[in-house]
Amino acid sequence: MENEKTRAEAMREQLLYKKKNVFETMEEADVERAGEYAAGYSEYLFRAKTEREAVRISVTMLQRAGYVPYQLGDAVEPGGKYYLANRGKALFAFRIGSEDISKGVRISAAHIDSPRLDLKQHPLFEEEGMGYLKTHYYGGIRKYHWPTIPLALHGVVTKQGGETIEVNIGEDAGDPVFVITDLLPHLGKAQGAKPLDKAFAGEGLNLLIGASPLLDEDGTPVAGEDRVKLNMMRILNEKYGIVESDFMTAELCAVPAGRPVDIGLDRCMIGAYGHDDKVCAYPALTALIDSDDSAHTVICVLADKEETGSDGATGMQSALLTDLIGELCKVLGANAALTRSNSMCLSADVNAAYDPLYSEVFEKRNAAMINSGVVLSKYTGSGGKYSTNDASAEYVGKIRDMFTRDNVLWQTAELGKIDEGGGGTVAKYIANENIDTVDLGVPVLSMHAPFEVISKLDLYETYKAFLAFCK
Ligand code: MN
Ligand code: MN
Repeated sequence: MENEKTRAEAMREQLLYKKKNVFETMEEADVERAGEYAAGYSEYLFRAKTEREAVRISVTMLQRAGYVPYQLGDAVEPGGKYYLANRGKALFAFRIGSEDISKGVRISAAHIDSPRLDLKQHPLFEEEGMGYLKTHYYGGIRKYHWPTIPLALHGVVTKQGGETIEVNIGEDAGDPVFVITDLLPHLGKAQGAKPLDKAFAGEGLNLLIGASPLLDEDGTPVAGEDRVKLNMMRILNEKYGIVESDFMTAELCAVPAGRPVDIGLDRCMIGAYGHDDKVCAYPALTALIDSDDSAHTVICVLADKEETGSDGATGMQSALLTDLIGELCKVLGANAALTRSNSMCLSADVNAAYDPLYSEVFEKRNAAMINSGVVLSKYTGSGGKYSTNDASAEYVGKIRDMFTRDNVLWQTAELGKIDEGGGGTVAKYIANENIDTVDLGVPVLSMHAPFEVISKLDLYETYKAFLAFCK
């Protein structure tokens, strides 16, 4: 009897797969290191709410690590560390390896844009003594998430003549914040009877920015219409030197105000705006910086516009990655097509963490669990695997061996039940360039909400995964 049980146990261990929890595999020193790493990440996240801010703080980190600006066509040398910021909104950081580049480059790609409320080009209006800014949401939001939370204004305004100024209101101590109002429950009966996706309209997401009119020298409100609007414009003009027509040449957006915070009595999670996808961008970038000894040429791409389909000059569908590899090959005397065909990519994006409160949309056996490590997704897409990069068994096998070698805790997952929905990443655009690519990332609770949740230990395993990949 006892022998049989032992045999069954041994067979079970040998033949069956069991998903592990990171607390079963991680050493105590690593848990501590993960906590420190998470603190650095939280600071990065607070300073990188928009893609422009993410590029800026990432460039600062790269410069500190000895990376220098690069332009297409520049000479490069083995061991050299370079970065190319594309229009201030996307970033390519790379280190030239000692081995022949035509053996392939290692690419990690994440995105640094997050769902938010962009301002329209004519945003400012006044209604019954209150001043508002009209918004046009960017990316996949659930509109009901955005009313009644403190919002900050971030972005840039290009003035007549070409000067571009930075706007940031709502993040510094003592700054005012803005809000989208909602109905009181006492009058919300009809609204409450509507389906969730119909109860709030895009045109209803207007930002309340003030409620006082412009005053004359004697302290009384000026005569005429639009007195509040005029006062809002006066304040903006005093602070930033802008006039109303400058909104037409601006990129301003409302994002959730405030810092990332620890979640839970055990503080093992982080709640914040913008984990998707800075929670992958940060490990990809820091792994590049921390893996100086790699023989491979490693490129870290931080892309813009993923949340709206990766189109445009700063999105992953832009020609720049291919151009960059082409230019590097040219100056290093290698064949670019061969180099791409030998290259490998980790497309780093978040995955949906299994949420027991919403178990009905998940397929538990193939869902990402919090604290079970970095998630590898062979394919994403929707329905019959439409619109996806489906990585080959051989390539996934290579990545698996790297993770095993370096004790990276990883799991595999699909995003929800097959017919429930789905989603894509930048993976297919890179794979289309004849580069082996697979999706990898951190499980997120409440993905795309103004306040998303991740586990610090999953974040750390993702960092370890990128370190293994850079080796
Ligand atoms: Mn994403
Ligand atoms: Mn997303």
